[in-house]
Amino acid sequence: MTEHRTRPFSSSQRLPELETPPVMHNPNEAGALLAEFIQQHPRLMILTGAGVSTDSGIPDYRDGDGAWKRKQPVQHKAFMEDFLTRQRYWARSLIGWPVMRNAAPNPSHHYISDLELLNHSSLVVTQNVDRLHQKAGTRAVTDLHGRADEVVCMGCGYRCPRDEVHDRCAELNPGFRKYTAETAPDGDADLDVDFSEFRPVDCPRCAGILKPDVVFFGDYVPKDRVYSALDVLKASDGLLVIGSSLMVYSGFRFCRYASEWKKPIATLNLGRTRAEDLVDLKLNARIGETLKASLDQL
Ligand SMILES: [Zn+2]
Repeated sequence: MTEHRTRPFSSSQRLPELETPPVMHNPNEAGALLAEFIQQHPRLMILTGAGVSTDSGIPDYRDGDGAWKRKQPVQHKAFMEDFLTRQRYWARSLIGWPVMRNAAPNPSHHYISDLELLNHSSLVVTQNVDRLHQKAGTRAVTDLHGRADEVVCMGCGYRCPRDEVHDRCAELNPGFRKYTAETAPDGDADLDVDFSEFRPVDCPRCAGILKPDVVFFGDYVPKDRVYSALDVLKASDGLLVIGSSLMVYSGFRFCRYASEWKKPIATLNLGRTRAEDLVDLKLNARIGETLKASLDQL
C-alpha cells in the first residue's frame, strides 16, 4: 500500500495538452452508462468538486483543461504572516461571503441526495466549502476542505459563525460596504483597492488571528479527516467523482487509493480530469441532466 502522504494544496498544475478535444457525451447516453455502473457497484463513495456548485452561482476555479481561471487565491502562509493579506481577505469577503451564504442547492445536489436515499452513497466527500450538500439534505458528508460558514481562531481554537465576524467587519469598516466585484469560489472577490485602512476582527477571547475554517492553498487537509474518509472508501464498492478535475492532490488521492484497492472509478465532469488513466468509466457530460437520466433508471 502506498504510504499515506500529505501534500499541500496547490493551484499551479494543469492537464497535458490534447491533440483532439475530449468527446462530449449527451446526458441520456451518459446517464444510462452511469446507471449501469451504479447497478454493478451499488454502494459508492461520491467525491464532488466545484462543478457541482456552479449552477448555484458559485464560480469554478478551473476551466475544462484543469487550468486556473482566476488570479492566484490567498495562500495559507501569507494569510498567517502578513497583516495586509488579512486586511485584503476580509475586505473582499464583505462582498464574496454573502454570495456563498445565500446560495441554494441546485438539482445536482438534490440528485446526489437522492442517491443517498437509494443507499447508493456510503459517503459524500466534497472539495466544496459551501455546505450545499447538507442544505440539500444529504446526511453523510465530509467537508474535505472545511466549511466557509464558520470561523476559527488560530490561537485558541475559538469558533463562531462567519456571519458574526462578517457583521462586525461591516460595522468596523463602513467605507468598504460600497464596493461590488466579481465573486470567487471561496467567499473571496476580485476587488483591488487600498486595503490599508481596513480593520479586520480579532478573536474576542485571545485577540488571535481569525480564519474561515477552510483549508487555504498551501495548507494541509487534516489527516484524521482523510483517514476516516479512506476507511469508508475501503468499505465501498467503488468511487464516483462528480464535478472535479482532480487537479488538487487532496481529491486525486482518493482515485489513487481506489485504483490500488481495485475499486472501480467513474468520473462525471464537464471537461477532463487528472485521473484519466485510472478511471473505468469517463463521462464528459452535463452533470445535473446526466444524474437525472441515471436516477430515472435506478
Ligand atoms: Zn482565540
